[in-house]
Amino acid sequence: MADVFDDKKRSDIMSKVKSKNNKSTELKLISIFNEYGITGWRRNYKVKGHPDFVFVSKKIAVFVDGCFWHGHDCRNTRPSDNADYWTKKRERNIKHDKEITALFERRGWTVIRIWECEFKKKNREDLIKKLKPCIIQ
Ligand SMILES: [Zn+2]
Repeated sequence: MADVFDDKKRSDIMSKVKSKNNKSTELKLISIFNEYGITGWRRNYKVKGHPDFVFVSKKIAVFVDGCFWHGHDCRNTRPSDNADYWTKKRERNIKHDKEITALFERRGWTVIRIWECEFKKKNREDLIKKLKPCIIQ
């Protein structure tokens, strides 16, 4: 099937989808913060790399990454149309993520990257393990 959108248009559409998904996973994380009494976080803190959350005093940056967009190998929902386009886009995201992680770590920050799929109930324990640095006072 031919693609009806050009790249620019498609990219507009996908960025809308992306930010919408991001929002719901961010809200899920906030409810987990509340549930576990995790405090001291700031959302959308203005710093290069745009972490979803930061704990300024603990120097922790938290990113919530969509599995599809950021290349998690947990599922294979890769569209068959324009496979090249998606692969390139994800490769760019993965490269960017690595650069941002390195940038924070060079400054002595801890980077926590949470995958969208880790919000599933069965993965809760792993998620909390990841969040340990945020919990420890
Ligand atoms: Zn995943």
